[in-house]
Amino acid sequence: MIRKFFGKVFSGRLFGSAARPKVIAARIHRIPPERISNGAQKVCETLQQHGFAAYVVGGAVRDLLLGREPKDFDVATGARPEQVRAIFRRSRIIGRRFRLVHVMFGAETIEVSTFRGTAADGDDAAQTTDEHGRILRDNVFGTVEEDARRRDFTINAMFYDPVRREVLDYHDGVADIKAKRLRMIGDPLQRYREDPIRMVRAIRFAAACGFEIEPRARKPIRTLAGLLQNVPKARVFDEIMKLLLSGSAADGVRRLRKEGLHHGVLPLLDVILEQPQGERFVMLALANTDTRINAGKTVSPGFLFAALLWHEVLAAWKQAQARGMHLMPALFEAMDQVLQVQSEQLAIPRRFGGDMKEIWALQARFANRNGRRPFQLLEHLKFRAAFDFLLLRCESGELDAEIGEWWKKFSHTDEAARTQMLVKDSPAAAPAKRRRRRRRRKPAEGGAALESDAE
Ligand code: ATP
Ligand code: MG
Repeated sequence: MIRKFFGKVFSGRLFGSAARPKVIAARIHRIPPERISNGAQKVCETLQQHGFAAYVVGGAVRDLLLGREPKDFDVATGARPEQVRAIFRRSRIIGRRFRLVHVMFGAETIEVSTFRGTAADGDDAAQTTDEHGRILRDNVFGTVEEDARRRDFTINAMFYDPVRREVLDYHDGVADIKAKRLRMIGDPLQRYREDPIRMVRAIRFAAACGFEIEPRARKPIRTLAGLLQNVPKARVFDEIMKLLLSGSAADGVRRLRKEGLHHGVLPLLDVILEQPQGERFVMLALANTDTRINAGKTVSPGFLFAALLWHEVLAAWKQAQARGMHLMPALFEAMDQVLQVQSEQLAIPRRFGGDMKEIWALQARFANRNGRRPFQLLEHLKFRAAFDFLLLRCESGELDAEIGEWWKKFSHTDEAARTQMLVKDSPAAAPAKRRRRRRRRKPAEGGAALESDAE
């Protein structure tokens, strides 16, 4: 069906200049009307009834043409934010860099933006750039054509009118979808300078769509990578999160590295990907994440970041023990040290830190397979996540597969069988007992307090 659709599109005079959009009719693009969310449909209809142009834009149109389920629906319109706000009772104006309106429809929130234009030269109040050409403020409204030209890639610059059921294609995005090509609108060098995050986006979309980045957009990335240092960390973090949770994270990270973009973007990858065992573990974790996402399951960012940084923690843990610290205090010190460095460099939000620490701390407890402790571990709220993490460690070759197998069996069997399974001479059993005795004698000892934290 897709081939037939493209065949029809390209049988006509559809290549050429982008001054006017190609208008692609429903019988050709074949986007099923029911795939448009109710909210997006209603918002566009209502705005059009009030005399404003209104389209579904960006990623949703791209995904619909790729036959994928859009993550969310954004609408672009000729109406100003205040006008949109006045039309929809359940709406609010948000944003500082560029003002948008959130329109609420039941559980759905539709983001409505006014067509953006480019500031006339010298209009400093509306648009300002830094010394690298990066756009800092950007509050100029424009026409639909201008709005299309300001978007990053041709496949992200298509507009869908859900009332007429037509796709407006200003920059031959449909042709690029067909050719599996990620093409930048305008001059890539200038577009990257204006907003260096577009380099990360190029790799994210190429990986997610299975496309190639056109050479003129791919080549400058290596040279301009350093400009990412000027982008606010939170924006970089958001894009990286999208890449990691796109279902193509393994490919995305591979491509980041291939294009020389992991240095300084993902400082954690700088280090980890250079250690053979760390790399294997990270790639397995990413592949595992991709499988879950593509099967419609959820993934926890905490788990993912815990995996990305595990070998950092392992190295710091070993160092702390070599300095004479006990097992658990050493682990806690290592965790804090790694989190501290990474949260400064990558702005990992604090809310993930708790999950990460729990998953890491529980790793130390899997060694203990005697007495009550394995039973207590099974009851832990984070057992499942920590156990999945343990399996990755086994699969990567860091741990003997036997321990993963043991815990798999232990968690799936009944109480009586579990008691039979206990490993009397479990290597960690002895230190655990010793630690407990010492704690009773010296209740105020710092290390022991940390140990009990981990339980
Ligand atoms: P996803 O489905 O992953 O969210 P998306 O294409 O919707 O992908 P968003 O970040 O949600 O990506 O952005 C929505 C649209 O806004 C894009 O499709 C693109 O047209 C435009 N856009 C976003 N960021 C930029 C940017 N840095 N430069 C130019 N255009 C951008
Ligand atoms: Mg989006």
